[in-house]
Amino acid sequence: PLVLGIESSCDETGVGIVRGHTLLADAVASSMEQHAPYGGVVPEIASRAHLESIVPMIELACERASVKLHDVDAIAVTSGPGLAGALMVGVGAAKALAFALDKPIYGVNHLAGHVAVDQLEHGALPEPTLALLVSGGHSNLLRVNDISSDIVSLGATIDDAAGEAYDKVARLLGLSYPGGPVIDAAAASGNSVAIDFPRGLTSRKDLERHRFDFSFSGLKTAVARWVEARQRAGEDVPINDVAASFQEAVVDVLTRKAIDACVESGIEHLVISGGVAANSRLRVLAEERASAKGIELRVPKRSLCTDNGAMIAALGSEIVARGHGPSSLDFPADSSQPVGTVVSSPLG
Ligand code: ATP
Ligand code: MG
Ligand code: FE
Repeated sequence: PLVLGIESSCDETGVGIVRGHTLLADAVASSMEQHAPYGGVVPEIASRAHLESIVPMIELACERASVKLHDVDAIAVTSGPGLAGALMVGVGAAKALAFALDKPIYGVNHLAGHVAVDQLEHGALPEPTLALLVSGGHSNLLRVNDISSDIVSLGATIDDAAGEAYDKVARLLGLSYPGGPVIDAAAASGNSVAIDFPRGLTSRKDLERHRFDFSFSGLKTAVARWVEARQRAGEDVPINDVAASFQEAVVDVLTRKAIDACVESGIEHLVISGGVAANSRLRVLAEERASAKGIELRVPKRSLCTDNGAMIAALGSEIVARGHGPSSLDFPADSSQPVGTVVSSPLG
């Protein structure tokens, strides 16, 4: 099927067009620079930017794919989770399109989209697959039995998301937003064993209750304390060593828990996606640890890891291909849509 996907859950306005597992177009506008002065996404600014970009991105995607809106078989749109006001822009636009063109509409789960996008690059996802989703707003370990209908959460962050930790630590080191790419770069010339930062939720006691959960706020505080102590002593802060040691603590826990989850559940395929999957150290360490256990690792290219419309089109395409019914036209934008709800308000 030819599916147009719309994404507007956070600060990217994305429109993608796919046919089956083939990516035809991916148009993305980001309001990231407008949020930079605030050190994080400002919801009102994001919503307004979506309003300005949504129609141009739909037009650009159609142009790049050389398709007319009337040729599209179905429309998919992120219904949640995400920022309520931001989601509403995409959902409203998608409903208007579906109504005007008389096409079926699928309100779909953003997190499932992050996983489904891998099919555009590496073909059909094996079933089951384990997915580690790490972005600015999420850190989840998912068991994907069927990407169109059966996703189970094994664990999630109990405080900050991994990307959020990068952004906050960058801020306290005086680096720019978003923090991921700058810390990644600084860490490249730093010593990752210079400082022994805490690995959240890995003690024996914590593992009993939080086997596959994550926690990054204690790590962020530990970095802040360490930096403050240096400054109080009137010493220079070795930014590259702090960045490398912080990064090692994050990716050590992420990869350790993801691989443990694969081993414990006998799953031989791991997908890592979301903005933090762009991290160079995460990609290297995950590959090392996966291959040591005979696990096949799939990581989409960087542009498909961050928020985009192609991931929503990819998920919609899979849902249509598997014969699931569309959403009823009154489905809501659900800022806290659970990962188990792949399609909102399905008509059956
Ligand atoms: P959501 O959480 O809803 O999926 P988002 O916009 O917050 O959406 P993404 O766009 O997927 O998330 O990712 C952005 C996050 O990824 C930011 O926190 C950013 O710092 C982080 N990031 C980007 N590149 C890197 C990198 N090389 N290393 C580590 N983190 C990175
Ligand atoms: Mg983003
Ligand atoms: Fe996302």
